[in-house]
Amino acid sequence: MFAHIQAAPADPILGLNDAYKNETNPNKINLGVGVYKDEQGNTPILQSVKQAEERLLTEELTKSYLSIEGTDNYRQSVQTLLFGENHPIINKKLAHTAHTPGGTGALRVAAEFIKKHLPEATIWVSNPTWANHQAIFQSVGLEVGSYAYYDASSKSLDFESLLASLSQIPEGDIVLFHGCCHNPTGIDPTKEQWQQLAKLCGKQGFLPLFDFAYQGFGVGLEEDAQGLRTFAEQVPEMLIASSFSKNFGLYNERVGALTIVCETADNADAAFTQIKRAARTNYSNPPAHGAAIVAEILSNKALRSLWEMELQSMRTRIHEMRGLFVSTLRSKGVEQDFSFISKQQGMFSFSGLNPEQVSQLRKQFGIYIVGSGRINVAGMTHENMDPLCSAIAEILTQ
Ligand code: PMP
Repeated sequence: MFAHIQAAPADPILGLNDAYKNETNPNKINLGVGVYKDEQGNTPILQSVKQAEERLLTEELTKSYLSIEGTDNYRQSVQTLLFGENHPIINKKLAHTAHTPGGTGALRVAAEFIKKHLPEATIWVSNPTWANHQAIFQSVGLEVGSYAYYDASSKSLDFESLLASLSQIPEGDIVLFHGCCHNPTGIDPTKEQWQQLAKLCGKQGFLPLFDFAYQGFGVGLEEDAQGLRTFAEQVPEMLIASSFSKNFGLYNERVGALTIVCETADNADAAFTQIKRAARTNYSNPPAHGAAIVAEILSNKALRSLWEMELQSMRTRIHEMRGLFVSTLRSKGVEQDFSFISKQQGMFSFSGLNPEQVSQLRKQFGIYIVGSGRINVAGMTHENMDPLCSAIAEILTQ
């Protein structure tokens, strides 16, 4: 029965991680998979998370199933993070949130919900986008298209082409936006550009789906939500897939959420029953631990301020590495302009290194970068910066 099955191609990002583990070069550097690393190259458990876990350990009374949508405490905390305290969407009960296993779980439930209730819709993703987006939507049989986003020559947002692309998208289709810290380019629209995009969305009548996996990794918790909140002011319906893998460092706990915003509370109630149905046939109900940590941190003043400090220090370290990367390359005599990297947000940037150069870095120096040239800036440290930049300088002058 199974003998005819061909091996699937390695996942472009997670496959790279496996290869890195087997790399024998003692000076190897991993700028591949999207995981935050500290100055020592570790992915630590946040103090706020540890403290919340200690409390949970003593307070937890049962391991019985959660409801399909997760706990009320967690769901409310997610909405407040998304929209801000006392937002009309929350007060008028226009949104419902389901706790999902990670942001990927949220996207998958969204995909199934869309396929069932908007079967004719095409979903449009930015070119480029996170490697898993297309596969998630295609796996439920949705049509996936792409819209213009990145200008490779100026290494910046091609806003004119973005507007032109979105102007072609018909009513009833779905457009996926990265809430902040666009993966893989690190380039987000400005406040004014978000306003133009939201206006265009209202005019065209497409449904926005926000993938919000890096809140707090760009400028700040509130600032990073500005795109989503601008849309929430101008369009009556949207979907939001949240991930707390990065901003709480809860990668393997699988904490995410899918939020649906509707025009009326009745619509939201009805649509949410269908989201729950998609979850029920998928994983039945979500894993409790990670979301309990998030809810505990967000509802406790002291833990929340500790978390915000820790989040800020992750964000600051990434910005520092961006600046140091640019100046170290310059000090190595690299003439190519890499200054765009210090202007970008979040963990990722498109380095502009081509597949050949990426492969040379791996073979000659044990430096791992995604084939597209996407680098995880959070993999850089003061210690590996010099060898990293020397290697890039050597490759660029070969
Ligand atoms: N969306 C984007 C843009 C991401 O970068 C990621 C994680 N790399 C996800 C969603 C998925 O997040 P999670 O690990 O919580 O499933």
